[in-house]
Amino acid sequence: LEAPSKVRAVAVVDLGAIRHNVATLRARVGSAQVMTVVKADAYGHGMIPVARAAREAGADWIGAAVLDEALELRAAGDTGPIFCWLTTPGEPLARAIAAGIDLSASAPWEIDELAAGVDDRPARVHLKIDTGMSRGGAVPEEWPALIRAALAEVATGRIEIAGIWSHLASSDEPKSPVNEAQLATFRHAVEVAESFGVDPGLRHIANSGGTLALPETHLDLVRPGIATYGLSPFGHDVPSGELGLRPAMTLKARFAMVKRVPAGVGVSYGLTWTAPRPSTLGLIPLGYGDGLPRHASNGAPVQVGGERRTIVGRICMDQCVVNLQDDQVVAGDEVVLFGPGADGEPTADDWADAAGTINYEIVTRLGARIPRRYV
Ligand code: PLP
Repeated sequence: LEAPSKVRAVAVVDLGAIRHNVATLRARVGSAQVMTVVKADAYGHGMIPVARAAREAGADWIGAAVLDEALELRAAGDTGPIFCWLTTPGEPLARAIAAGIDLSASAPWEIDELAAGVDDRPARVHLKIDTGMSRGGAVPEEWPALIRAALAEVATGRIEIAGIWSHLASSDEPKSPVNEAQLATFRHAVEVAESFGVDPGLRHIANSGGTLALPETHLDLVRPGIATYGLSPFGHDVPSGELGLRPAMTLKARFAMVKRVPAGVGVSYGLTWTAPRPSTLGLIPLGYGDGLPRHASNGAPVQVGGERRTIVGRICMDQCVVNLQDDQVVAGDEVVLFGPGADGEPTADDWADAAGTINYEIVTRLGARIPRRYV
């Protein structure tokens, strides 16, 4: 028997699309290696199935933000190179080092923490450079101290410098001068490291925007996330089809109830929408508790029987209401919230517009209450 939730709604994830996207990205970057970024449950698509599909399509690396993700990948049997870049003091780095997971360090104290976690194999570290985004990373004044700390532990055999890396702040705007400035700062950091006698290993800075639009940022390795899922980092400006990518996720549900209301009836909390004429309303059993953005209330598009319809009234925790106009729809009929768009259904970008956000957030927020089905 199917779980009740599978009848209610499902996020269908096309692993063929994931494989296609990884292969497309690989083909774009020549000899550079590809790290498929699967953090945040693979942007909502399901980390383990996506990581497997990515490896099948030739991903050299898998990228995870936090340690639990990286360790879960290993526990699931992924034996390939894994990079994890966001650790917090006190986390069990020793487990990651023992599991052969590459880690990041921005400061001498992080080098010390890594060295302290070493047992029988050295910690593989990628030195993080802050090239202007002001998240992690060493700023120029801190480079010598970071490099010296790393070299001291290289000398003890507790650390291997496996890479040097940074992150682009504005690659979704390929023409922004910020990209060039960050790359110049990064190249300078590599030169400084080399002047200390460091072999920097893998140099990497490109996310999807860099991978797709800024070939000079490819260096030794690229780290595409959103493009893996077939979504464009440039939103509507450059749709994913133009980039040769295929959106992998389709979110569908079944109407829990359909009712006919007279003109003047208000809908959902606050009655923020009132039927202007007699209307058929469909109740979708999904809400912000499933990750639908409440900001998309009164405007998010859906597709019912091939027609575009609109969510009216506020999106509630578990439910929301569609104006079905005069459609012949019954409870149990299917509604598509978003998908690749090939059959006229709305896309994650359409939902992002309705919610005032980016496609990343639309897919990533989808909660565990929605089952994923892999095709
Ligand atoms: N690399 C790092 C360090 C990240 O934090 C991210 C995600 O933001 C990525 C790569 C992938 O970025 P995108 O999804 O824009 O390709």
